[in-house]
Amino acid sequence: MNCPKCDYDLKTTSYKDVEYEQCKNCGGLWFDALEAEELVEVKNAADIDTGDPKEGAKMNQKWEIHCPKCTNIRMMPVHDIQQPHIQLETCPQCHGTFFDAGEFKDFCEETFMDRIKDWFAKK
Ligand SMILES: [Zn+2]
Ligand SMILES: [Zn+2]
Repeated sequence: MNCPKCDYDLKTTSYKDVEYEQCKNCGGLWFDALEAEELVEVKNAADIDTGDPKEGAKMNQKWEIHCPKCTNIRMMPVHDIQQPHIQLETCPQCHGTFFDAGEFKDFCEETFMDRIKDWFAKK
């Protein structure tokens, strides 16, 4: 799979047995729907967000992207209500989610965990 933002290879990594993909170029994180759900349960999961937030902020400008998995499906930008500066992209078909570098950490720092869990539970 290629990064939906910069087209660089996404590398499969895992943290406490939960797999996710990280772009080695822009530092963005890709989670399949179930992976994100599992990861929010893991303590210190914010540590996986090792990318440069400055690079993430740049990549955040680019939101007209296609799902790296479904390829021809356009991802939808989603804003967090409490933290509108955070914009994620989610795929309406496979429910995978892309976090730009720094965004996942930002989420974890606020008590967003429960809300993101609700989100995925609804789908
Ligand atoms: Zn990238
Ligand atoms: Zn998809």
